[in-house]
Amino acid sequence: MIVRKRSAGDNVEAKCTRCRAVLNHTIVAMVGERIVRVQCNTCGGQHNYHPPQEEKKPAERSATTRSAAPRTPSAGRSRKEPVPKGPSEWEQSMAGVDPATATPYAMDRPFRTGEIVSHPVFGIGIVMTVTKPNKVEILFRDGVKLLRCAL
Ligand SMILES: [Zn+2]
Repeated sequence: MIVRKRSAGDNVEAKCTRCRAVLNHTIVAMVGERIVRVQCNTCGGQHNYHPPQEEKKPAERSATTRSAAPRTPSAGRSRKEPVPKGPSEWEQSMAGVDPATATPYAMDRPFRTGEIVSHPVFGIGIVMTVTKPNKVEILFRDGVKLLRCAL
């Protein structure tokens, strides 16, 4: 559709501040493409141009789209299964292990993966990984500890 450029003297629908209604107005003043001042054809009063409808819809739209972040309440709650406290990785590793065979931990001795180690603080553990030059990861009851060792 062809939109004719508006200019002063044209009729335009605007909200009249006195009549408090959307009525035909005559454009009195414009700034560029924007209508700034109009005269009401009904009451004859001049006032600043108010668009026929206060455009509030875009704001409401953006509010709804913003809260559209996918929430998955079922993912976290429905799975009530508690983290099994029962046989931990450590207990599984220790199954069938005689603590008496554990090697006393000392930072100046070498370890190899799978070796059972007895630590004065952490207790019995099993060597998970040996990292050069001098680090050994041992799985104790409390969890994996990174300790020093010699290779
Ligand atoms: Zn009016």
